Amino acid sequence: MQHIQPENWIILYFGLIFAVACVQMVVVYTLTNASNPPLGLGLYTVYFMATLLGLIAFALQYSLRAPLRLDVSSASSIFYSYLLLAAAGQRAEIKMGRTVFGIICAVACVSVFIAEPEDILKVQVTVAAVFFIYAALLSGWRGWTNSNIGDGIMAVALMMTASTLVLLYLQQTEADYTQFQTASFVLYSSAYVVVAIGFLASVLIENQQKLSHISTQDPLTRLLNRHGLEQALHVTLAQAARQQLPTAAIMVDIDHFKEINDNFGNKAGDQVLRQVAQTLQRISRASDIVARVGGEEYLVILPATDLDDARTLAERIRLDIAECALLVSQQQITITASLGVAGALGAVELNRLSSEAERAMHLAKRGGRNQVASVENKPILYSTHVD
Ligand code: GH3
Ligand code: MG
Ligand code: MG
Repeated sequence: MQHIQPENWIILYFGLIFAVACVQMVVVYTLTNASNPPLGLGLYTVYFMATLLGLIAFALQYSLRAPLRLDVSSASSIFYSYLLLAAAGQRAEIKMGRTVFGIICAVACVSVFIAEPEDILKVQVTVAAVFFIYAALLSGWRGWTNSNIGDGIMAVALMMTASTLVLLYLQQTEADYTQFQTASFVLYSSAYVVVAIGFLASVLIENQQKLSHISTQDPLTRLLNRHGLEQALHVTLAQAARQQLPTAAIMVDIDHFKEINDNFGNKAGDQVLRQVAQTLQRISRASDIVARVGGEEYLVILPATDLDDARTLAERIRLDIAECALLVSQQQITITASLGVAGALGAVELNRLSSEAERAMHLAKRGGRNQVASVENKPILYSTHVD
């Protein structure tokens, strides 16, 4: 390692930055769906590219032992920080301040060409720090509101660069100035890498969030999840509203399921959940929609079915679950379930129907479990308990 010349270290340093930025951009572009690109991708790409070129120019200047004069690149440095501010604003969907900061950017860029040499650095560092702080606030806000740690990482990196402002006003001698140059250089370049990684993380997390939202299936039981249920019910509920049809819902909750996990293990618990899902699908009609809406809770929606018919079906489900011991890992497990039934005529909202069915299910629990209860215009109707 001692054979590496100092000027080569800087090439290695920039090589690393270049590699991180390129890998980041390739991954982001591979992930990006052309019809729905991540917010701010365009401006962030311009920022990453422009800054990278600026850093490479610095590296070449340095390795050629040309004097590293910050004022040469002051205007471009101000412009890069404004680009980042605009990109953070685009990603956070906040345009406020863009024009004002754009005017400040233009004035600052022009002023570095006419200002006294000793003032150029002050203008550049102050304006860039203000832009970075604002971009950090925008990223931080987006990270907070979208629960995206990637934006949070960018915010921290950008706040870090604001410390150059403190360093600038601490320097007094020529030696301080050299130290300041080194420190700010390290701060800016490391912030650049952290912002690149933060942006990649932000896009990955956003993708993950979209996928989990798009996903309509519960992976364990292969039933619909709540989102899938909402999608599947669009047409059914519209039809019920138009034709004044009855719609019913049955909420099924396995009794003392926690004890099954505790006594037989979580794997056996998972198998029980799968078998109950199969039972519900077997007993319900093809037009009924079965979904897993909680850990051990299922919701069956019965289109064009009145409350009495739904209660009859719920009773059949209850009996089937209670009477057929499940064979799980060579062990017979007997379970019971509590069921709540609710019904409506004509227009109905899924949330309302499911919360009424859930209320009825809690009544069944309170009534001693392993039973069906329903809520219809307030009077509570329990089915006879069959042991
Ligand atoms: P209750 O009769 O009042 O309904 O009691 P319970 O034990 O069924 O209900 P509780 O809400 O106390 O516990 C539900 C348990 O379901 C707790 C949780 O560990 C378990 N659970 C949730 N999701 C899963 C899963 O996907 N697999 C397994 N094995 N267990 C799960
Ligand atoms: Mg429950
Ligand atoms: Mg339960």
